[in-house]
Amino acid sequence: MVNTAEKEQTAESLDLFESTQVIIKEALESLGYPDEVYQLLKEPMRTLTVNFPVRMDDGTVKMFTGYRSQHNDAVGPIKGGVRFHPEVNENEVKALSMWMSLKSGIVDIPYGGGKGGVICDPREMSFRELEGISRGYVRAISQIVGPTKDIPAPDVFTNSQIMAWMVDEYSKISEFDSPGFITGKPIVLGGSHGRDTATARGVTICVEEAAKKRGMDLTGARVIVQGFGNAGSYLSKFMHDEGAKVVGISDAYGAIYDEDGLDIDYLLEKRDSFGTVTNLFENTISNKELLAKDCDILIPAAVANQITEENAKDIQASIIVEAANGPTTLEATKILSKRGILLVPDVLASAGGVTVSYFEWVQNNMGYYWSAEEIAGKLKDNLVNAFKKVYDASEQHRVDMRLAAYIVGIRRMAEASRFRGWV
Ligand code: NAD
Repeated sequence: MVNTAEKEQTAESLDLFESTQVIIKEALESLGYPDEVYQLLKEPMRTLTVNFPVRMDDGTVKMFTGYRSQHNDAVGPIKGGVRFHPEVNENEVKALSMWMSLKSGIVDIPYGGGKGGVICDPREMSFRELEGISRGYVRAISQIVGPTKDIPAPDVFTNSQIMAWMVDEYSKISEFDSPGFITGKPIVLGGSHGRDTATARGVTICVEEAAKKRGMDLTGARVIVQGFGNAGSYLSKFMHDEGAKVVGISDAYGAIYDEDGLDIDYLLEKRDSFGTVTNLFENTISNKELLAKDCDILIPAAVANQITEENAKDIQASIIVEAANGPTTLEATKILSKRGILLVPDVLASAGGVTVSYFEWVQNNMGYYWSAEEIAGKLKDNLVNAFKKVYDASEQHRVDMRLAAYIVGIRRMAEASRFRGWV
């Protein structure tokens, strides 16, 4: 359950909010929208702060603070994860709710973006205390969430068990069984096939599409994956299964590189639940060195701010697909773009998770469930289509794929707000 990469993500949030606003402004200007539309979309419409009590195992009652941010619901209900982390803060959930709006717009699912969080450290809490926090948080935000209002999901340090407690609590409050209240549930409670690998599958589809654009054959293509956690490990496996040669991987402690290709199955077997595996090797290199190694495709799947103004010139790959949130700074994006490197941005590449969450919600609403194969097929259709729209927008507006993704992602929300007469 514990997701080490996300610790860094909270630090990234300090300027995440502002840099998101900068690109949203640029995207709306490219689309010809007046400033009033930017004023509407530059921050969430609603952010709720809650303080709620939880009885701890030692008998004392402790107060916890949580947030739920809802960016804009012009298109449809709000959707976005809930993180449990000691560094959760209001600015972070606000920025992440805006990213969720962009992702939903890019993959064309009828949601606005949301994000929630509770300031706590699940690594220091018992199972029962975690249940208390999960239920307490849902009670505290219950008035603004619901299957047709705002649908939460797992995020940093939260998992399907936590979703199960949350849906149970919501069902009690609402006095009806409401599986569509939350996604990322266990399969027996209405969860969807393919949810756990959805992000890595989505990234893999983007790699395939990017390779086609560059006339690159994935068989034998040399791939470096930074990070070997949930996203990075599945990705390495999927790349390997496609016939690519994974020449480098890393974790928080270092990296390994072998131009003849790494034994991915062995690494998967040996990695621990935190995505650590390089400690088993002697000839490791640093993460910085790994990023500059020779390869065809680079997939940052660890933490933010890895490719910066400093090392963008050293990147050897001709394709970069961002599985992590914010691995490339805006300055580095410009340098890579000038160098002719095709960069598939995070808001597109990592949208597989929210796409399958949407499928889970649809299945809950229908009361009819799709097979793993059906989910995989629908995910592929959505992501291939999203990639095409973003790629075409980048050609049409003569901008890099990141700005193009923002243009595609924000357009529908701006249009819906216009039709509703909000701006
Ligand atoms: P994880 O915690 O499971 O794994 C993170 C990996 O990165 C681990 O191998 C860890 O050792 C490594 N790492 C940590 N700090 C590092 C550092 N400073 N340098 C290099 N490596 C480091 O996390 P995850 O779920 O795989 O997420 C990875 C990235 O993908 C994050 O940016 C996350 O936001 C993004 N993402 C993940 C999902 C998902 O479904 N898992 C969805 C969307 C986006």
